[in-house]
Amino acid sequence: MTSAASRLHLVRENIAAAAQLARRDPAEVTLAAVSKTRSADEIAQLIEAGQRDFGESRVQEAETKWPSLLDRHPGIRLHCIGRLQSNKAEAAAGLFDVIHSLDRPGLLEALVRAAEKVGRHPQVFVQVNIGEEEQKGGVALADLPGFIDRVRRSPLPLAGLMAIPPQSLEVSPFFALLAKLARRHGVSGLSMGMSGDYRAAVMLGATVVRVGTALFED
Ligand SMILES: *Cc1c(COP(=O)(O)O)cnc(C)c1O
Repeated sequence: MTSAASRLHLVRENIAAAAQLARRDPAEVTLAAVSKTRSADEIAQLIEAGQRDFGESRVQEAETKWPSLLDRHPGIRLHCIGRLQSNKAEAAAGLFDVIHSLDRPGLLEALVRAAEKVGRHPQVFVQVNIGEEEQKGGVALADLPGFIDRVRRSPLPLAGLMAIPPQSLEVSPFFALLAKLARRHGVSGLSMGMSGDYRAAVMLGATVVRVGTALFED
């Protein structure tokens, strides 16, 4: 096994073990490999090991790396996980299958226009500012019900809620809160969990975990 393949195997085993502990079906959890800053070669190794979902933070970086990889490897799903500027909406709609960082009305409008124009409607996760941190992206908790309504009235399929918990605090209460908000609003998808905390996220209901370091570094 290559080291990329063995890292992938380990992360998948960990996801399966966490799911089993929580009496969940591991097949409900999508592993998005976060390939920001990684080279096309490193990415190709993971693709060869069977990985199909990849996350990128920056549109420009994704636009330079992915078109040739996508040509060679059909069946890849690309996820946009970073803060998205409205002026990049068209490029994003053209490239990404899933957008995890929808967090404001202006971006929703830009994505809707872009989707109509390029003829692709990416699924969207609404990013929630779950720790109510001033500098962080994400919809404020108070604005969430109204914003979810807006997305539901748009032509973009609502995939679920996404959050990045505050860095220095225990993450599990924030994952549990995001899961509670999703239930309250009848939303099924939950994008939460990174290299350091994806097991906890799976136990608390994640349907997508976004894992970079654990897949790309020994
Ligand atoms: C970079 C990043 C990740 C992956 O982080 P790792 O700790 O390397 O697994 C996940 N989600 C978002 C939004 C990121 O920016």
